[in-house]
Amino acid sequence: MRVLVTGGAGFIGSHLTDALVGAGHSVTVVDDLSTGRRAQVPAKANLVQMDILNPALGSLVAETAPEAVFHLAAHASVSESVREPEHDARVNVLGTLKVLRACAGAGVGRFVFSSTGGALYGEPQALPCTESHPVRPLSPYGASKAAAEAYVHALGQDSGMRTVILRYANVYGPGQDPDGEAGVVAIFAARMLAGEAVTVFGDGEQQRDFVHVADVVDANLRALTRSEDGVYNIGTGVGTSVKELFASLVRATGYSRAPQHVPARPGDVGRVWLDVSAARAGLGWAPRTPLEVGIGATVESMRANRIQ
Ligand code: NAD
Repeated sequence: MRVLVTGGAGFIGSHLTDALVGAGHSVTVVDDLSTGRRAQVPAKANLVQMDILNPALGSLVAETAPEAVFHLAAHASVSESVREPEHDARVNVLGTLKVLRACAGAGVGRFVFSSTGGALYGEPQALPCTESHPVRPLSPYGASKAAAEAYVHALGQDSGMRTVILRYANVYGPGQDPDGEAGVVAIFAARMLAGEAVTVFGDGEQQRDFVHVADVVDANLRALTRSEDGVYNIGTGVGTSVKELFASLVRATGYSRAPQHVPARPGDVGRVWLDVSAARAGLGWAPRTPLEVGIGATVESMRANRIQ
């Protein structure tokens, strides 16, 4: 298939692009390289450095004529969204609308949107969160993804494009930027490998659902062949506290220092993990990477790449 991936130079997008190229698809990546890296894009993919808000996006999509589009380009940090909500909304809401309009105009058949499960539901009323849990984001980032989802539904219905929305938990794995503000596994692992202080926001009892990037890629590939619209949580269904995560990373890295606690960040949810039974039933998908195994492999990859 001809496939277009926005954000394909980023953490999840580059893993997805690798898998799509490996499966024999013809892949175009659109990325402005604001957080993504050119080196992460496989040579067989065609990288176009472009902001998704660029007016030329429509003609690029029309010329490329993709059968399917994976939309991952986003401003993907909760804490930065609290500081700069307008920038977050510009990229995540307006940007998504621009991509959707370009796709609808070019007759794209399938649109797969990377949304969030971790930041969409707010402080959950019940755990694990199902897709029908009320959408009450605590952060501008969660709000922007909720708005973008609404546009995916509206433009999908209007254009006849098949749409699949994947709501990820906390994604981790090799290649995640350890210098950003999101991605606690990469941040902790890099600091531990460098012997630096590790900062924990709050008491460390906050719980998250950590899903490996290979499982997230698998969900995207399954969404490519899905013939109906759908909204699916993509996580593990298990909550892991930041304290437990710290301990797991200590085992993998041999780090010997205690964490430094600082006040909790605004916009962060206390406890959230996702019910993934809809993805099991609708996509035939299941998380396959146990946390300890995924953490070990991530640390090994960081060691090998000397991201220390
Ligand atoms: P990332 O920052 O590594 O990737 C985002 C990519 O989008 C980067 O390559 C960046 O350069 C590109 N980009 C940003 N703004 C752009 C713009 N205006 N035009 C073109 N390209 C632009 O983040 P990621 O962790 O790989 O996240 C990918 C997607 O998954 C995002 O939509 C994010 O919201 C979503 N998501 C991620 C997680 C997670 O835990 N990592 C969880 C839930 C949802």
